[in-house]
Amino acid sequence: MEKTLVLLKPSAIQRGLVGEVTKRFEQKGLRLAGMKMMQLDDAILSEHYAHLKDKPFFQRVKDSMMVTPVIACCYEGVNAVEAVRNITGATNGQKAVPGSIRGDLSMSFQENIVHTSDSLESAKVELERFFKPEEIFDYKLAVFQYLYACDEY
Ligand code: ADP
Repeated sequence: MEKTLVLLKPSAIQRGLVGEVTKRFEQKGLRLAGMKMMQLDDAILSEHYAHLKDKPFFQRVKDSMMVTPVIACCYEGVNAVEAVRNITGATNGQKAVPGSIRGDLSMSFQENIVHTSDSLESAKVELERFFKPEEIFDYKLAVFQYLYACDEY
C-alpha cells in the first residue's frame, strides 16, 4: 500500500470545490488516512516548492498558496501515488485531459486546484512535512474486498 499527499489549494477552497475534489478520490476507492485544514507560511512553502526556486513565478506561486488555508489529505491505496497523479492531470489546467481534476475544473497553470505528490519518495517527504505521525490513521476500510482482488495488494 502507498500513501500520498493531496493539498486542496486556495483555488479549490474559494471556488467551492472541496466536495467535488474529495468525492473523486473517495469514489476511486482511495482510503482517506488523514485530513486537516492548515494555514501555510512562506517557510513551509519555500521547502515544499524548493524545486521551483529559480523560476520567475516562485514567490507568486507561494503567495497564491497562502491566500486562504489549504486542506491537507493523506490518501492510501495500491499504487496510490500514480493513481492520484492520473486523477490530478497535467499541471496546466488548460492542457490537462478532460476527466482529470485539473482538466475538468481549472483553466490555469497556477490556480490548478490541487497539489499531489509526484513520486513515492516525495510522498514520504511531503507527508512528514504536513502531518504528524498521530494525524495519520490506519483504520481498515470495511469495503476493502470490493476494492481489490486478493492478488492485487
Ligand atoms: P505539479 O503541481 O503538477 O506537480 P510543479 O511541481 O511543476 O507541478 O509546480 C508546482 C506548482 O507551481 C503548480 O501546481 C502550479 O501551481 C505552479 N506552477 C508550475 N509551473 C507554473 C507556471 N509555468 N506558471 C505558473 N504557475 C506554475
